[in-house]
Amino acid sequence: MTERDVRVRIPPSPTGNCHVGTARMAIINFLFARRHSGTVIFRSEDTDKERGKQEFEDDIVISLHWLGLDWDEFYRQSERTDMYREALRSLIDLGKAYVSEEESKKEAGRMIRVVRLKNPGTNVTFTDLIRGDITFDTTELGDFVIARSVDDALYHFAVVVDDALMKITHVIRGDDHISNTPRQILIQEALGFERPKYAHYPLLLGADKSKLSKRTGDTAVRSYKEEGYIPEAFLNYIAILGWTPASQREILSLPEMIEEFDIKDLHKSGAVFDIEKLRWFNRNYLQKIPAEEFGQAALGIMEEMVSERGLKWSSGTGAQLYGMVRERISVWKDLRVLIDDGELDYFFSEPRYNTIDIPGKKSAPESAIKHLNSLREILANISETQFRNQETIKASVWNYATKEGTGAVLWPFRYALSGLARSPDPFFIASVLGKECVIKRVASAIRALSAV
Ligand code: GLU
Repeated sequence: MTERDVRVRIPPSPTGNCHVGTARMAIINFLFARRHSGTVIFRSEDTDKERGKQEFEDDIVISLHWLGLDWDEFYRQSERTDMYREALRSLIDLGKAYVSEEESKKEAGRMIRVVRLKNPGTNVTFTDLIRGDITFDTTELGDFVIARSVDDALYHFAVVVDDALMKITHVIRGDDHISNTPRQILIQEALGFERPKYAHYPLLLGADKSKLSKRTGDTAVRSYKEEGYIPEAFLNYIAILGWTPASQREILSLPEMIEEFDIKDLHKSGAVFDIEKLRWFNRNYLQKIPAEEFGQAALGIMEEMVSERGLKWSSGTGAQLYGMVRERISVWKDLRVLIDDGELDYFFSEPRYNTIDIPGKKSAPESAIKHLNSLREILANISETQFRNQETIKASVWNYATKEGTGAVLWPFRYALSGLARSPDPFFIASVLGKECVIKRVASAIRALSAV
């Protein structure tokens, strides 16, 4: 027998937004299929009429595309009910399933007609590609229900019919489905379908090692998109969660992942979804964005956020902050938070000198005033053009600062420039602000301190 061409399925139920776990299921199936030059099938399991919504299906499709995943065929279970009905009829005709009239469990006294599978009551053994041989005694399942009526097949039945008609070769899914497998195999055997290969991988865990859920952090892929995660970084992190490629590499592009993917390298125990690690991955990708592209994105956010704070935006000033910003953020959202916290305000407005927080409060403001006066003189001797270079400013101030004590001199300098007790290197800030502005701020700080 020749190996069949690999065909896998991504079968989410559209009962919620795309979950991190759904993304992982899709990634694993996608990598496996592409590694074997196989076919990826997206199947919307939209049979839950109460909880299923088109907007959730859309969200799943959009989120998976955002991650760079795609598929070759697309189906919706709601459009395939004829096929389920036909399969159900043939099973009843063959005497392998039967209609049973019984009292509804939900509504006492109401009689309903369900379809039950005649369970041969055997041991079912299947070889799981991750967990090895698994045997279930299926007697306790009894003649289980496979349809609410001939027209309304239940989930297990629909999945089995679809997997067969779609010629699925590998069912790769989370181990929360493992107990469904014997049931599905019994239906398969009754219908005379070929058995696909199974692989059940352990589910992702939240930080507290419990099942990943809303309680343990954001689980919707869209919220990571909205926070400005880079899709390649997110994809990379989710892919290597619970998978160690043979090369042991952690940072891989999608083609590299496809090249390296081997289902045997999936871990046998659950991996923890760790936001800090995800941020680390994102930072890694952020650092690699070409300067121009980074600048464009950063500028857009800065302009929007700075203007929102009612400050006067200057793209010239903004452009000088890229390097600093890139150092300080892991995700684009961090830049928004930074600006929202007022940490860049002093680049776009005069600082307000809060004299309660005077640097080096233990020493008298007199010391700060004295050093600021000296700094003013030193800085006045630097030409306007030289002032654009932070190294020049540093070189001019350094002798004085080391003589007087760098802390005693540079703290007031930083305070004069930013009004904050904590801020980046004063030489950097000074070079961005320019000579005129710096001299003005030093004078203002002296005035504010003198009033204490
Ligand atoms: N629709 C199912 C779910 O979202 C997946 C079914 C399967 O993998 O067989 O959990």
